[in-house]
Amino acid sequence: MDHFDLRDGALHAEQVPLDAIADAVGTPVYVYSAATIRRHVHVFRDAVGSLVHDGQAPLVAFAVKANPNAAVLSVLAGLGCGADVVSGGELKRARAAGIPAERIIFSGVGKTAEEMALGLREGIGQFNLESEEEAITLSEVATALGVTARVAYRVNPDVDAGTHAKISTGSSENKFGIAFDTAPQAYARAAALPGLAVQGVAVHIGSQLTDLDPLRQAFARIGALIETLRADGHDIRTADLGGGLGVSYDPALPAPPSPAAYGAMVAAATAGWACRLIFEPGRLIVGNAGVLVTSVIRVKPGVHSPFVIVDAAMNDLMRPALYDAWHHIRAVRPSGERFEANVVGPVCETGDTFAMRRGMDKVKQQDRLAFMTAGAYAATMASTYNSRPLTPEVMVSGDRWEIVRARQPVEALIAADSVPAWIFEQPTED
Ligand SMILES: *Cc1c(COP(=O)(O)O)cnc(C)c1O
Repeated sequence: MDHFDLRDGALHAEQVPLDAIADAVGTPVYVYSAATIRRHVHVFRDAVGSLVHDGQAPLVAFAVKANPNAAVLSVLAGLGCGADVVSGGELKRARAAGIPAERIIFSGVGKTAEEMALGLREGIGQFNLESEEEAITLSEVATALGVTARVAYRVNPDVDAGTHAKISTGSSENKFGIAFDTAPQAYARAAALPGLAVQGVAVHIGSQLTDLDPLRQAFARIGALIETLRADGHDIRTADLGGGLGVSYDPALPAPPSPAAYGAMVAAATAGWACRLIFEPGRLIVGNAGVLVTSVIRVKPGVHSPFVIVDAAMNDLMRPALYDAWHHIRAVRPSGERFEANVVGPVCETGDTFAMRRGMDKVKQQDRLAFMTAGAYAATMASTYNSRPLTPEVMVSGDRWEIVRARQPVEALIAADSVPAWIFEQPTED
């Protein structure tokens, strides 16, 4: 559920008309709803909060890569959330937003020694290791700093998550995690390394999952592994179950499993585990908490249906080009009339297409549209391709709103480059 609704014929974010924001800030602009973010955290906590193991309530560590805006992270910090980070940059952002270090989990296949040292100096809660080579490096870095790194291995349970190939991470031929069958040996070797304290197991099989079965299978394998590891003498105290629960993009399709259904599945799958559960939801928390507001530059006739050319493009919202993602597109002031159209951006790529032959609210030049469910993996993936400056972001709460990332002037793009003086020298002939 989100807080983007029609009021008096105009789309609002909570109590603020999207038109008012677009008039003041221009378009394209991302608009987030703080109430929606808070609501999603509460719903998720209600679903998993009672799964107390080992005397400890679960840790909800927001996957920062879904939306790293400081205002978003600050809302989550205020709710006591932790963070799942995949780079030193995300770690710094999470700390800057006030997320305590002990609630930070560091994931990712390519952590550098510098990033590991940053995490160790901050005193983060857990490193999720993705290879034995990484364990060796972390051991060296921790030993050099004279500290102990708390670690889990991300284990690849070899299940098919049934999601888009580019966001599926849990099958065996995949860059993420260590192979399930080799996990006992990997844990034995990690436990023998100085500077590492083996404390947990981690799994994350993919994103935008719309079926609980792959998760259920993955968690069953993790449960069996925890028993094996304990029998081998490891003190397994945390089980990180990752993120991945899907959100509704297309209101015409069946809704993905609810957090409550997910929580019930997890309760059954983890009964008797006796370890603190960690969850890393990203999309579920912020996906439906953001929209991208865009203006129609012009409508150009097409063979089958007209092209609605908008001022947002693939560089602002990459998901359709990258994952064939479907975003619901609504008029900010719907006239009630509908038509079939193709919605495209101005970038010089055929991939800069948001929708083809879509039945949608009829719009004309200068009307505004909102791409719904643009709070996750959206602004954060933006680029400046075609020398289009990064899109501004706005946070709404109740009847208040504020710019939480300013529109980047194109001059900033130009100023970021520099030209060596020798470019202007006469080339020597040889
Ligand atoms: C991306 C990611 C998540 C979050 O996934 P969502 O589908 O957004 O919930 C969680 N954990 C890890 C390790 C990730 O890479």
